[in-house]
Parts: sequence; structure tokens; C-alpha cells
Amino acid sequence: MLVREIESIVVESHHTKSFYFKGGFHADPGQFVMIWIPGVDEIPMGLSMIGETMGITVHRVGDATEKMHALEEGEKIGIRGPYGKGFDILGHNIMVIGGGTGIASLMAAVEVAVEQDRDVLVAIGALTREELLFTERVEKVGAKLEIATDDGSKGFEGFVSNLAGELLSKGNYDQILTCGPEAMMMKVIEHGKKFGVRTQVSLERFMRCGMGVCGSCAFDGLRICRDGPVFDSEEVYGKEDFDTYRRDPSGKRIPLLPSD
Ligand SMILES: Cc1cc2nc3c(=O)[nH]c(=O)nc-3n(C[C@H](O)[C@H](O)[C@H](O)COP(=O)(O)OP(=O)(O)OC[C@H]3O[C@@H](n4cnc5c(N)ncnc54)[C@H](O)[C@@H]3O)c2cc1C
Repeated sequence: MLVREIESIVVESHHTKSFYFKGGFHADPGQFVMIWIPGVDEIPMGLSMIGETMGITVHRVGDATEKMHALEEGEKIGIRGPYGKGFDILGHNIMVIGGGTGIASLMAAVEVAVEQDRDVLVAIGALTREELLFTERVEKVGAKLEIATDDGSKGFEGFVSNLAGELLSKGNYDQILTCGPEAMMMKVIEHGKKFGVRTQVSLERFMRCGMGVCGSCAFDGLRICRDGPVFDSEEVYGKEDFDTYRRDPSGKRIPLLPSD
């Protein structure tokens, strides 16, 4: 395990903060790390920035993320990984669709794709304008930006998956990369199928080991940590667990909530 000092913290919204630290390891866009918060827990987090400086972006939802939010610059975290399979960035015209905190796991892919001279359009969705993440960073990196808010307070009024359907009907895309609530990703996959665009999705499940041994993140014969977290949509579309179930820490299958 690597131990890193938190070099900077950015408050992204009332429930989300980014934590930046020195990298010193290679990671592909879409891979995740296990973050150890001393004395509390170890939790999976997508890398929202990769390079000399690495970053994670944490939505406060429970005990561990609450403690993470209480950390200050100069304090230390433990890092295992990176783990899993990241995005396979192919084609010239890429559409990236992030719902809520899901955009965090996509940002590194956006930056790599733009650096590789691909045309990248990023559609970011959130409940309200206050909860939109990384809009300035997307514009700064040189990707096109589209915004959707459920309450219409900024950009398209409605789900970002509906906006994506409109955008797909107007342009030619080679590939879609998406991360967010599974109900949203299900709609995005369906749009991708309709317009014949290959879609990759990044999934989340409860994880313990992060490396395919313990089975905590079992998903219809796949392990999210090892076989994913990024999957080609064909690998997961139609699977019983997709957009339906997740597992609690005991391994019991429980219904997904609309926000999961
Ligand atoms: C590969 C991967 C990448 C992730 N990347 C990020 C990221 O970039 N930013 C981020 O904020 N979060 C990310 N997560 C989710 C994050 O790991 C959980 O939110 C965190 O473990 C919650 O810990 P907690 O103790 O604060 O909350 P808990 O007390 O454990 O849970 C609080 C609530 O969240 C639910 N929950 C916890 N984990 C999950 C999950 N995996 N799927 C659905 N519901 C869950 C619980 O059931 C409960 O309702 C990622 C998860 C995975 C598997």
C-alpha cells in the first residue's frame, strides 16, 4: 500500500470534494483505487485525475466518505491499486455522458482522449446547477460541453440520458463512455444501440478486496473489480443484476435504488 499526503482539497459542491495527492504510479482512465482512511474503512474510488498529480472525487454518502470529507490538507491516506479494467478509447468522435458523481470516473478519459486529438463532447447531468461537477475543467481541456439538470436550473431540463438521445440523433459518434446511476446508463446503452454506437459503462458495487478474490462485487458471473469496472455494454446489458440488484456487505442481493 502507498501512503500519500493530501496536497490539496477542492470543494466541488455541498456534498462532494476532490482530494489531490502525488501519484508515482501508472493508471489508465477508468481504473479505481482502494482508499484506506486510517482507523475507519477502505473504500473504492475512481481516479478523477491521473498523472503526476492524482485525484479522487468523493461524494459524502456514509461513514467512510464522511470521515474522508473531514480530512485536511497535509493529512495522509493509504492507496491500494490501481485496479480493474479502464476505458478502451477508440474512434475519433467520442461522447462522454456523466450522471452525478459518475463524471469523476470519466474525467481522466476525457483528458486523455482530447490529448490524443479526438473530438470529445461531454454531457454532464446533475439534479441541480449547484451539483454539476467539472464543467469548467471540461471546457478548459478543450472538449465540447453540454449540461442537463433535472430541475432545469441550467442547460437542458431533464435527465442527461434524454439529452444524450437528442445529441446522438444530430451527430455521428464512434463511441460512448458513460458512468452514473444504472437507470441512466441503461437508457444510454439503449440510445447507443439505436444509433449503432459502441458504448462502454463503468459500474459500481460494494467491494472489499478490489482484486477479484473475495467475491463481494459479484454481478451475474462477473466481478466488477476485476472484469470491470468498465465493461462493453454487450457484457452487461440484459444481465439480471444490471439496473436491478446490488449486494450488501453480507453478500445478500438487494434492490438498486433509482440513484444507485
Ligand atoms: C469502482 C468504484 C468506483 C467508485 N468511485 C467513486 C467515486 O469516484 N466517487 C465517489 O464518491 N464514490 C465512488 N464509489 C462509491 C464509493 O465507494 C461508496 O460511496 C463508498 O464506499 C461509500 O462508503 P461510506 O462508508 O461513506 O458509505 P456506506 O455507509 O458504506 O454507504 C452509504 C450508502 O451508499 C450505499 N453504497 C455504498 N457503496 C455503494 C456502491 N458501490 N453502490 C451503490 N451504493 C452504495 C450504501 O448501501 C448506503 O445506502 C465507487 C465505487 C466503486 C465500486
